[in-house]
Amino acid sequence: TLDAAWARRWIGEAAAQVAAAKDGLTELDRQIGDGDHGINLDRGLQAVLAKLDENPPGADGGPVAVGDVLSLVATTLMSTVGGASGPLYGTAFLRAARSAQRESLGASAVVAALEAALEGIEARGRARPGEKTMVDAWQPAVDAAVRAADDGGDAVAVLRAAAEAADAGASATVPLVATKGRASYLGERSAGHEDPGARSTALLLRAAVVAAE
Ligand code: ADP
Ligand code: MG
Ligand code: MG
Repeated sequence: TLDAAWARRWIGEAAAQVAAAKDGLTELDRQIGDGDHGINLDRGLQAVLAKLDENPPGADGGPVAVGDVLSLVATTLMSTVGGASGPLYGTAFLRAARSAQRESLGASAVVAALEAALEGIEARGRARPGEKTMVDAWQPAVDAAVRAADDGGDAVAVLRAAAEAADAGASATVPLVATKGRASYLGERSAGHEDPGARSTALLLRAAVVAAE
């Protein structure tokens, strides 16, 4: 069941996966950015874990919405990650949180939350697909989620389809020339490297699946 306990497990898994991938993400960002993406995101997710322990949603005994966990994630990422990705992931989680004000998510609610996250990122970063940003992982993830739900997939199947598409989308950023974010300063020289934010998006969505299995 994709409930608040799942969301809490998701963030634990995401923090563990990002901690393990921290150097790799930072190395990707060293190639086409300023070499801090893994450090930024690791710091943010560790802060989220601390906040969730300090202030566990539902500690007052009331019902907890999935969105209650996600909004704590959002505000903490916004205030601790910094850089471009902090406000982008913060907005993504904030929009997803608003969309997920219910005790558990079915297939269509997962689609809606992913769509809301992507809309938040696009509103904040003004990037479109093909500009070598995290949008190039989020857009195929949303498209795959919509298809999986149309095919009758359950919530976990929808999430799995999204994570797989995000992974492929991240890999597909390698040949792209960046036209948004710091990597765009490199122009044509940004081609030949994977976008770090697209890769971390794939990691985050993969963690959501692991937490659901
Ligand atoms: P900074 O570039 O400020 O150091 P990070 O290294 O944490 O921030 O994050 C870089 C990632 O942010 C990029 O790899 C890209 O995926 C994402 N990004 C940057 N600008 C945008 C944008 N305008 N829209 C969407 N994603 C963006
Ligand atoms: Mg950076
Ligand atoms: Mg930076």
